[in-house]
Amino acid sequence: MSVRVRYAPSPTGSPHVGNIRTALYNHLFAKRFGGVNILRIEDTDRARAIEGCEEDIIESLRYVGVLWQEGPGAAAVPGRHDFGPYRQSERKEAGIYEPHWRRLLEEGNAYWAFDTEDELKEMRAIQEANKQSTGYFGGTWREATPSQIEQAQREGKPGVVRLKIPRGKTIVIEDAVRGRIEYDSNLVDDPVLIKADGMPTYHFAAMVDDHLMEVTHIFRGEEWISSAPKHVTLFKALGWTSPIMVHLPVINGRDGKKLSKRHGDTACLDFRRAGFQGEALANFIALIGWAPGGDREVMSMDEMAEAFDIRGIQPSSGVFDLEKLNWMSGMHIRRTTPDDLLSSICEYADRGETEAYWSGRPPGEGEPNPRLRLKGLRLLSARAKDDRSYALEAVKLEQERVTNLAGFGEACLFFVQPEVEFDPKAVDKWFGEPHVRALFEWLLSRLEGPVSSLDSVEKYEALLREAQGALSLEKLGPVVHPVRVALTGKTTGPGLFELMNVLGKDEVAKRLAAALKELPS
Ligand code: GLU
Repeated sequence: MSVRVRYAPSPTGSPHVGNIRTALYNHLFAKRFGGVNILRIEDTDRARAIEGCEEDIIESLRYVGVLWQEGPGAAAVPGRHDFGPYRQSERKEAGIYEPHWRRLLEEGNAYWAFDTEDELKEMRAIQEANKQSTGYFGGTWREATPSQIEQAQREGKPGVVRLKIPRGKTIVIEDAVRGRIEYDSNLVDDPVLIKADGMPTYHFAAMVDDHLMEVTHIFRGEEWISSAPKHVTLFKALGWTSPIMVHLPVINGRDGKKLSKRHGDTACLDFRRAGFQGEALANFIALIGWAPGGDREVMSMDEMAEAFDIRGIQPSSGVFDLEKLNWMSGMHIRRTTPDDLLSSICEYADRGETEAYWSGRPPGEGEPNPRLRLKGLRLLSARAKDDRSYALEAVKLEQERVTNLAGFGEACLFFVQPEVEFDPKAVDKWFGEPHVRALFEWLLSRLEGPVSSLDSVEKYEALLREAQGALSLEKLGPVVHPVRVALTGKTTGPGLFELMNVLGKDEVAKRLAAALKELPS
């Protein structure tokens, strides 16, 4: 039997880290076993559906590199059986669910219930007061006679269809991560399968679809594990085999609390806005709760697919650690070829959402400066269009130090700025030193004079060493540091000789002349 899995989001919000991990595992598992990954939109809860959400879902999947072979946005494969439609609202319209719930009713595995909202509230209040499990365990309708039901229907009372969970039994689920779990069926309430408006609930639609779509494994968040006994019962009542259940551990923040907005960005597309490459984010998210074995961590999608194994999924909760994401993202930046990296940076810089993301963020302590970041990105992208090889050299020099696409904004700013923007702290630290004027003047005289060509890193190094000798300085530091400030505005950055070689002689001379004007008289 070939593997068929599904990612089945409800369009109730932009996918967050937890959803995307589920999507990734489906993709990796399908890829590993040459199976099919299905995208199914679970939109039966009309009140909670959000306009435009499906686009966000598809964009998020494309961003992290999840592929699906069936469902909205998948290319139809000629000759292959189509299990569509893949939106549950359309499946409901097509009448796909009705025969199944009717059969459950006929065979006594489901029943009509006509409780009003007030009655249900009252039931709950009594259960709470008696410290009983809350939920519908029978009420008036589980054992109602056909004539009682007919009467309620004649009176036009709104009714729901509920699954009749057998009482006094042990319901067993075999979870691929947690193993065997037993439930006392007396504690499992009778879930609604069909709502009063005729729409199926998640419990019903998802399981019917999993069967009809021949799903072999259900990967889903641990929050669904308490629903598993209902689902197993449903499969049994319909005479179907349950797919293998794979419940994925919750994701917590570093504080041990369930990951939420309080922890910062959690929507997948926010990470794209923040400048993370999709593959780096996929790698980071996949490893929250899955250990690929050995000490492997930095992996491409193909490497992950090759290694993916349900046995590597941890039952204990995973931690979302932003520091780790930054580290991993930096490792992916270094694995990218400079040419691809520059293309990604430009694409990132030119995307409207980038500006909106950064300009909405105040510069905080230890945080990137959004203004410099955006300016650098804009100028770098413009420069790449005019002079790609220059932009490429700048990117190559920063590739070892930057952790995501956005970081190239500040890091490369000095390369592409027409006038260097000085960091006041850097100026205070170095421009007041007594030898600096003479140093800049000496260098300028050499650069403006008939120097032999300056066309290599070694030649710039030799030039600065010569300056050290000419000024009788004991060490190279007092040459290197002020020159770095003059050329870049900052005290940190890539190797000075290397960056001088990229800037080129004329630009170096222009910047030294401008820096001379900044020196205290
Ligand atoms: N529609 C459910 C959700 O978005 C899917 C759960 C499942 O994968 O079965 O949480």
